[in-house]
Amino acid sequence: MNIEKRIKNKVNQAIKKYNMFTRKEKVLVAVSGGKDSLSLIVVLKELNFNIECLFIDLGFKKFSQLSLSKIEKITTHYKIPLHIVKAKELVGVTIPQAVVKYPQNACAVCGSIKRKIYNSFAKEGGFHILVTGHHLDDEAANLLADNLRWDWGYMKKAQPLLNEKYGFIKRGKPFCFVREKESRAYALLKNIDFIHETCPYEKNASRRKYEKILSKMDEVFPNMVEQYYKNYLKKYHSFKVFPEEMLILNPCQICGDLTTHHTCRVCLIKQKKWKR
Ligand code: SF4
Ligand code: ZN
Repeated sequence: MNIEKRIKNKVNQAIKKYNMFTRKEKVLVAVSGGKDSLSLIVVLKELNFNIECLFIDLGFKKFSQLSLSKIEKITTHYKIPLHIVKAKELVGVTIPQAVVKYPQNACAVCGSIKRKIYNSFAKEGGFHILVTGHHLDDEAANLLADNLRWDWGYMKKAQPLLNEKYGFIKRGKPFCFVREKESRAYALLKNIDFIHETCPYEKNASRRKYEKILSKMDEVFPNMVEQYYKNYLKKYHSFKVFPEEMLILNPCQICGDLTTHHTCRVCLIKQKKWKR
């Protein structure tokens, strides 16, 4: 089977198996300009799903501008609506400004800010779900990191579908059965002009280190990574015996978003009062 057909089959299979969305429902795709999110929008568009894209300008100047130019090229070509939100306008700070006090935790700071923006945009726009270009290798790397700490709560997040919960919109990963190499091959086959540069903070991202470990293991034990993730999905029911953590949520005293504390993490980051 050729790569195009194989990826479309895998995406269709994931969407159906996890009941992610139908062709009538409005789907918001988070796009970064990288090969995975751009390949995802092309696949979903060619499968006739009702998609719109959201790009968050994190304020990385050249890197953000270059990412946006790649996204605009694809979304214009495939006639996909593109929304652009500047982090600075919505949360008052760019990522480089927000991480000044937290250089070792840049991704945690960035992740909290992006989550807040995706969530509020998707809710206000009446979207059924937010989807991302996370592929099987991404999920396996996240799972390994959480697995090594036996962090059950985080291990559940490697599921392909995370239902609406605690004020967060439903999130899906239609590429959950697609390997990284397949996503790359598809991008090349479809002449997708994606960004090759990486975010300035990526070198400190621990997830990349886990990805490298897994790819080395894949060389020694072919298909081990795929089996690792697929066995997790098969055995997921056993995680359900662990009680759900009962979170008590209150509106953040500054922005009103639901939080387990008096003030949400993004508001604390803006005030430079967040502690890890
Ligand atoms: Fe944000 Fe860069 Fe970390 Fe990605 S690598 S989460 S863009 S800081
Ligand atoms: Zn807040």
